[in-house]
Amino acid sequence: MPDFHPLILQTAGIHGWELLPDNPQWTHRIAIYGASGNRYIVAQHKQNKSWSCGCLGFRRHRHCKHLSAMRDTLMLMDAEQPIRS
Ligand SMILES: [Zn+2]
Repeated sequence: MPDFHPLILQTAGIHGWELLPDNPQWTHRIAIYGASGNRYIVAQHKQNKSWSCGCLGFRRHRHCKHLSAMRDTLMLMDAEQPIRS
């Protein structure tokens, strides 16, 4: 299992997200279940660090509710980085 940030682990536990192992291109892969029971994989690209989702909404609009659900967690992570020693 890859190194997930504690905030992601905590949020995943609350929302029932499934943490997946890295693949060659993507890290922080997290499976989120939509309202209809569909499974979507949100992940961070290893090179450019951008986040992506496998759902149709993201492919069409470059944003979606699955990434929105993670946004607060990601913002907390960003805010935390400068004070990490
Ligand atoms: Zn999505």
